[in-house]
Amino acid sequence: MSFHDFGLDKRLMSKIEHLGFTEPTDIQRQAIPIAMTGQDLIASSKTGSGKTLAFILPAMQRIMKTRALTKRDPRVVILTPTRELAKQVFGQLRLFTGGSQFKAVLILGGENFNDQVKTLEKDPHFIVATPGRLTDHLTKGHFYLNGLELLILDEADRMLDLGFAKELTLINNKADHRKRQTLMFSATLDHAQVNEFAMALLNKPKRIAIGAAHTEHQDINKRFYFADDLMHKQQLLSHFLGKENFQQAVVFTATRADTERLANELAQQNYSTAALSGDLSQGQRNQIMESFAKGQQKILITTDLASRGLDLVNVSLVINFDLPKHSEEFVHRIGRTGRAGNKGDAISLIGPKDWQSFKQIESFLQQSFSFDSVDGLKAKFKGLKAKQSTKDKVKAEQASKKKQSKVKPHKPKVSKKTFFAQDAGDMPVLKRKKALPPSEIDSEEIPEAE
Ligand code: ADP
Ligand code: MG
Repeated sequence: MSFHDFGLDKRLMSKIEHLGFTEPTDIQRQAIPIAMTGQDLIASSKTGSGKTLAFILPAMQRIMKTRALTKRDPRVVILTPTRELAKQVFGQLRLFTGGSQFKAVLILGGENFNDQVKTLEKDPHFIVATPGRLTDHLTKGHFYLNGLELLILDEADRMLDLGFAKELTLINNKADHRKRQTLMFSATLDHAQVNEFAMALLNKPKRIAIGAAHTEHQDINKRFYFADDLMHKQQLLSHFLGKENFQQAVVFTATRADTERLANELAQQNYSTAALSGDLSQGQRNQIMESFAKGQQKILITTDLASRGLDLVNVSLVINFDLPKHSEEFVHRIGRTGRAGNKGDAISLIGPKDWQSFKQIESFLQQSFSFDSVDGLKAKFKGLKAKQSTKDKVKAEQASKKKQSKVKPHKPKVSKKTFFAQDAGDMPVLKRKKALPPSEIDSEEIPEAE
């Protein structure tokens, strides 16, 4: 099958050719025809498989081929969970709107509000946005959604995780349901919260799932290493950065503080490093992402702020300095490499505090992982034993009582568990932030200390 089979407008076809894309990816092959019929759609496929184009092409086709419902309202709204991803999607959209009469604008938190009001007054056809800032403008009457034809939620599950359900519902309510089509995309869409939400927002949606979220990503080589503590993790990190053969690497940490500390540490070791976290100004964030995308640094250290959607073509190595608390984020983090058919490596360092997350990731991916080790940097930590169920405990106690009545032990045994618990001093325990009321959420500030 080729792009020609979709019946896309000639102008779109020539842009696709210009981009050098010869064949649609699987998700494009399946999603584009359904989206073009106007049906609602929930679509998932692995990271780096071309989901962006799977919604941009039908959106463009629709705008080019049909008449607007109103004169001034946006016809297509695309929402993403982070500013960085919104910028990237906007960049892709601009490749198609460029040189046409169709206007696309980008509305993000952290940027000048009044400039955005002026931008919205120009009645754009497309808005790409993060949910918080967009609803601000919507409630203040800076634009209306009566003419909205197509609502696209990229990384929809992440927006719900971040507590944007209210914003999404508001946007949904301000638009005319009968005339509107809604598309949801992500690599991880099969949890209950998403389904419930989709029922409310979408109208008899079609579903496409190319591979389940737990399907092995063939282009990403996952490796796991035990680590005893923070110092040990840093030694392993330096080892891999020195030894692995990579073009660019992304290192994920649990907190903003860790991001900063590691960046300083690596700078001292003369690595060219950029550090991205949510407490920087938007100007700084933009600058960092632009210079990393240009290859001006080899290593990007970040939090889950950058786990979703970012398409950084030269990233061939992802390192999880610690594991994310949500298993889906593991899939998205490692998906910053191995994109569009390229190969990538994903290394995860597992200390005592990561163990629970590690087990959850194994069960989410329905796999059990083995561990590699580095000569000279072997860990004492080898994982924690699973907690016994109450039934098993009672059995074990009864058995041990029987034993005790026969032989007396010479010395008390130190359980493995006790040893590990004492040794588990590498990371602060972080609690999930409580969701803020919508007015206080800076739309894309990811609760990073998760
Ligand atoms: P996803 O959203 O599924 O993670 P993206 O939409 O970011 O993936 O696309 C990943 C990469 O694949 C991008 O660099 C994009 O330009 C490229 N790409 C998209 N469609 C095609 C195609 N049909 N052929 C080749 N490359 C493609
Ligand atoms: Mg994407």
